[in-house]
Amino acid sequence: MAALRAATLSWVLALDILISQATNITMSNQKYRLLFLSTPVGALGSGVGGGVELTLQNAAKALIARGHSVEIVAPAGSISHVTKLTAIAGNMQISAQTQVGADMVVLPQNSVLENMWSYAREVQGQFDLIFNFAYDWLPLYLTPFFQVPIAHWISMSSLSPVIDGMISKTVQQSPKAIAVNTRACADTFTAGEQLMIMGKGIDVSQYQFVAKPDRPQLAWVGRISPEKGLEDAAEAAQCTGLPLHIFGLIQDLSYWQQIQLDFPKAKLYYEGFLATEQLQERLGQSSALLMTPRWIEAFGNAAIEAFACGVPVISYRSGGLTEIVRDRQTGFLVDMGDVSGLIDAISQLDQIDRLACRQQLEAEYSLEVWGDRLERWFEQLVSDYRAK
Ligand code: UDP
Repeated sequence: MAALRAATLSWVLALDILISQATNITMSNQKYRLLFLSTPVGALGSGVGGGVELTLQNAAKALIARGHSVEIVAPAGSISHVTKLTAIAGNMQISAQTQVGADMVVLPQNSVLENMWSYAREVQGQFDLIFNFAYDWLPLYLTPFFQVPIAHWISMSSLSPVIDGMISKTVQQSPKAIAVNTRACADTFTAGEQLMIMGKGIDVSQYQFVAKPDRPQLAWVGRISPEKGLEDAAEAAQCTGLPLHIFGLIQDLSYWQQIQLDFPKAKLYYEGFLATEQLQERLGQSSALLMTPRWIEAFGNAAIEAFACGVPVISYRSGGLTEIVRDRQTGFLVDMGDVSGLIDAISQLDQIDRLACRQQLEAEYSLEVWGDRLERWFEQLVSDYRAK
C-alpha cells in the first residue's frame, strides 16, 4: 500500500513538473499584436518596392501562422491577401537607389511616409511592436519617440551617408532594432557589426518544382533599372542564341529601350510584371535564372524563388547572392561584368542537379525557419523594451 502511495505521489510530482514546464513555455511563447509599415515608394503589389513587397507579405504570413496578429499599413492602392491592410494616402517617397550618395533627406509635400507614421503614432497603443520596411531616415529617427519597440528591416545595402549615419545612431540607442538579410549587406554599413542578420523565407508551397523545362531558355527577374544590369544578361542571350524571358516592372523606360537597340539580335521577350503564382509557373520552365546586378545586392529574392522551382541561378558575385548561390552546386558565381563568364556558365548548366536547388531552398529559406527567427528577434526586442 505504502509502495502504491509512493508511486502515485511520484506520478503527481512528475505531472506537476510537466504542467509547470508547459505553463512556462506558454508564458515565453507570447502572441504579439504587430503593426507592419510598408515601403513608401509605391503601393504594395505594384512592384515598385522590389523584393521588399514579397518580404513583407511573407513575414506577415510566417508570423500569423505562429499565432501572432498583423495589420499592414501601406500606401493607397496597395493589395494584400494575407491580412488586414490600412491604406494611407499621400505622395510617394523617391526610391533610395536613385539617391546614391545623397547626404540630405527629401520628403514631398503631403508625404505618404509622414502620413503612415502619423497613423502609427495614433494607433500604437493597440500593438506590441511596429515592424518598419521603409529604407528611410524618418522611421529610424522616430524609434525612441514611440511608446512601443520598433523593428527595422533594412532591405538594401548602404547607399547614402545620411541613412547610414542614422542607422548607427539608432542601434546605439536601441541595440538589436535593425535587421538586414545577409552578412554581405551588413558589412556595407558603418554599424554593420551591430545589425541582426535575419536571412529570408518564402512560402515553398506556392512554388512548383520543375524537373526539366520543356525547352532551353533563360530567365531574368527584377525591376528594369540600371542597377540591376539587364544589359549583361541581354548580351549573354545574344551570344548564346537562347531566348531570354524578362519578368518585372519597367522602372526606367529609356534604359530598357537602349538595351533593345544595343542587342538587336538577342531574343528578348518582355513578359510584364506577374503575380507570384504566374511568375513561378513561367520561371520553372527556365534552364537558368541570370542575376546580373551592377550594385551590391542586399539579398536577391528572385534567386530563392528560382531555387524553389528547381531553377539554377547564374549570378554575379555580388553581396547577398554570394551567400545564396553555391557555386557549381545550385548555380554559378561569376565576377561582376564578366559576360563571357555568364556564357561559360550557361554551357555548363547540365552539371547542376535541379533537385539540389529545391532542397537548398527548403533547408535554408522556408517560411517556418524564417518565422522562427523573426519571432525570436521580436521576443528579444519586446522584453528588452519592457525591462527599460
Ligand atoms: N517580381 C514579381 N513579378 C515579376 C517580377 C518580379 O513579383 O514579374 C518580384 C519578385 O518576386 C521579387 C522582386 O520582384 O520578390 C524582386 O526582388 P529582388 O530582391 O530580386 O530585387 P529588388 O527589386 O528588391 O532589387
